[in-house]
Amino acid sequence: MTPTPLKEGSAAVQARRVLVLNSGSSSVKYQLLDMNDRSRLAIGLVERIGEETSRLLHTPLTGGDAETRERTGRIADHAAALKAAAEELAADGLGLDSPELAAIGHRVVHGGLRFTRPTVITDEVLTEIERLVPVAPLHNPANITGIRTAQALRPDLPQVAVFDTAFHTTMPEYAARYAIDVETADAHRIRRYGFHGTSHAYVSRKAAELLGRTPEEVNVIVLHLGNGASASAVAAGRCVETSMGLTPLEGLVMGTRSGDIDPAVTFHLKRVAGMSTDEIDVLLNKKSGLLGLCGDNDMREIRRRIDEGDERAALAFDIYVHRLKKYIGAYSAVLGRVDAVVFTAGVGENSAPVREAAIAGLEELGLVVDAGLNAVRSGEPRLISPNYARVAVAVVPTDEELEIADQTFALVGRAESAGQEVPVGQVDN
Ligand code: AMP
Repeated sequence: MTPTPLKEGSAAVQARRVLVLNSGSSSVKYQLLDMNDRSRLAIGLVERIGEETSRLLHTPLTGGDAETRERTGRIADHAAALKAAAEELAADGLGLDSPELAAIGHRVVHGGLRFTRPTVITDEVLTEIERLVPVAPLHNPANITGIRTAQALRPDLPQVAVFDTAFHTTMPEYAARYAIDVETADAHRIRRYGFHGTSHAYVSRKAAELLGRTPEEVNVIVLHLGNGASASAVAAGRCVETSMGLTPLEGLVMGTRSGDIDPAVTFHLKRVAGMSTDEIDVLLNKKSGLLGLCGDNDMREIRRRIDEGDERAALAFDIYVHRLKKYIGAYSAVLGRVDAVVFTAGVGENSAPVREAAIAGLEELGLVVDAGLNAVRSGEPRLISPNYARVAVAVVPTDEELEIADQTFALVGRAESAGQEVPVGQVDN
């Protein structure tokens, strides 16, 4: 097909807004972006969906002072949540019926092996995302509800799925496979998929930029330390190893998840402690990690308690940092040459003590943190290692919504600028 240049001022040229939706089991986060300059027009959150205490927080960012509006009272379901968000956007002149809206980008947690890139959502794609529910029972159902709700709202609009697992599909087979019986593993799609991929992709690229190099020229270790936490080893722009596995439970110590654990602990809890599978699931996913170790999962609170001499909080901190160090060491070995170790997400971006402790004693690996640089608070990507250090240590704020908007707009925009219909139904194998 001969590409037809789009006419200046045509509807397609003007459609340069992207709505990003991140639908959780009881929450929906949204951001509306203007892709002319990738700025945010509005951000919002609906939480405690289905409860009497539902709450919507909406912040328009087009005017001078960003003032957050709040709605409280029961919001019955995701459809009602999105409708309420759409009303708030419309009140700011940013209604979702606008011809300026080019696409809706959805965060989808599990894309299995099939979805290696952002994909325009069709019935067939949605069916495949549903087929992955057994490996992502906590996340994919909420993502599917969000997609269906958005489709009902704007059936004419391209809806794009951006998968948390996609960035990790480049992992070599020897890193992705568990050492268990191959037939059993394959029959049940048991392997290491990894999560937080959108963040790892964005942060590793930004880190290369910070070093003044292209992603292909650098090897980086990304430490995404939020309430969920994961590490990845990225060689020349491709993920070669990551710490989360079949589910987000594996790997680092997290806010409420145990991370790595001897699988026999689960048999023991079942046989000896008499716990059910569901109880063990809740224990390891919701009541473990920092919360299980010391009763708090917020690093600010843990540091405050340590300053007051609290020994349980200090031990929880040490266990958290010890696990981080093990992964930095392991991923240094996997990569062979490391150009940067990069901290991101809530803890990684804000906790100087975690960064300092995780890098302390790793001079033999070329890793040193400058105390002065580490203490600086900033929302910008920055180096915290001294000039002489062999390996850079950096802090790069993550921006998963921007990455989802970029990937969504690139997919929709590529087709349009080639004068083609948006490739609805494109599926990457
Ligand atoms: P995220 O999941 O990326 O939103 O990260 C949330 C976590 O970041 C919280 O549970 C805190 O443990 C941590 N966090 C947020 N702000 C700070 C801060 N200023 N200092 C230390 N930790 C922080």
